[in-house]
Amino acid sequence: MTQNKVDYQPVIDQIKKTYPDYAAGGFVPLHAATFSGNEKKYLDECIDTTFVSSVGEFVNRFERDIAAYTGAAKAVVCVSGTNGLHMALMLAGVERGDEVITQPLTFIATANAISYCGAYPVFVDVDRDTMGLSPSKMAAWLAEHAEVRDGQCCNKGTGRRIKACVPMHTFGHPVHLDELVALCREWHIELVEDAAESLGSFYKGRHTGTFGRVGVLSFNGNKTITTGGGGMLLFNAENIGLAERAKHLTTQAKVPHRWEFVHDAVGYNYRMPNINAALGCAQLECLPGYVESKRQVAEEYRAYFNNHPSGIEFFSEPADTRSNYWLNAVILPDHEAQIEFLTQTNDSGVMTRPIWELMNRLPMFADAECGDLSTAEWLADRVVNIPSSVRL
Ligand SMILES: *Cc1c(COP(=O)(O)O)cnc(C)c1O
Repeated sequence: MTQNKVDYQPVIDQIKKTYPDYAAGGFVPLHAATFSGNEKKYLDECIDTTFVSSVGEFVNRFERDIAAYTGAAKAVVCVSGTNGLHMALMLAGVERGDEVITQPLTFIATANAISYCGAYPVFVDVDRDTMGLSPSKMAAWLAEHAEVRDGQCCNKGTGRRIKACVPMHTFGHPVHLDELVALCREWHIELVEDAAESLGSFYKGRHTGTFGRVGVLSFNGNKTITTGGGGMLLFNAENIGLAERAKHLTTQAKVPHRWEFVHDAVGYNYRMPNINAALGCAQLECLPGYVESKRQVAEEYRAYFNNHPSGIEFFSEPADTRSNYWLNAVILPDHEAQIEFLTQTNDSGVMTRPIWELMNRLPMFADAECGDLSTAEWLADRVVNIPSSVRL
């Protein structure tokens, strides 16, 4: 029990000092979009040429530019990160009745995409230093519950196939990818990276989303760069065939022909319109500067919270990584302090929010199989995101 409530006014003052322009306007948002480049120019081009919809040069250019930036051999656009995850799981071979391992501490889209495939999420704990899927906890869970039969990983308890694993790079901080890649190889599990939050984040010098069978980015309005709404699938050289399949399935699986409407599979209308891709091309030109700005903000927060009397700890990027610091996170001493901090900051025009409710606590996933989730539970009671917009 806390006897005396901590006064977080000094922290509120510091956040306002970090964002003087927003503070002057009376409200510091959690994460505002920034449009400082060629956005209007490229949107005008779309309208002037009438290429606003599903065909246009900006779609091709955005795919090429993202591939070049991330080092992926191929990138395929789609209408949202959520749709992208659905597509990625299908491409990895996830089928109805399969199980997919993921973390309970994530945005709902990760678990929903597994459900869209008719598959069951299995929630395995996160690591304290990444807030993402823990290789050691996953290894322990597999050793107890799984076996490899005829080259396929099976859950001994449910009899279902464990087809894939979806780690998520929480708030832009890369998970322990080397260990997860090795574990997935050992257990014959497909690795699909939810890199929705980590455009601009690197693990040992390599961009997140390029380590598994497929990686997925998001360009939703609150992400590091935005296309209004949108996503991108990333593929390595060895999975180039899957990229072609992705393009086909996201465009209604239409067989190319000058006039015929013939489709050879159940496809999807998941293709990003040119007007959104135009926004994406302009935003991507600004990305390096945005990431620098976000890392500068993070550095100021890190210095401020170092040995802070309130007991608040700033969450720093894991070893061997370079994070985009999409959303800055702090860890409060306990759950009461988390609620008090949320109350005082939001009452003062400084927007903060707690980390997501754990997936296994939501009604749709209440019956899901779970490992020991002690770290995720500990973090869920303490983590708060603080303002993290790009500063111009
Ligand atoms: C934003 C996000 C997505 C995708 O969201 P969309 O709004 O569909 O683009 C997926 N997973 C995580 C973890 C996210 O944060």
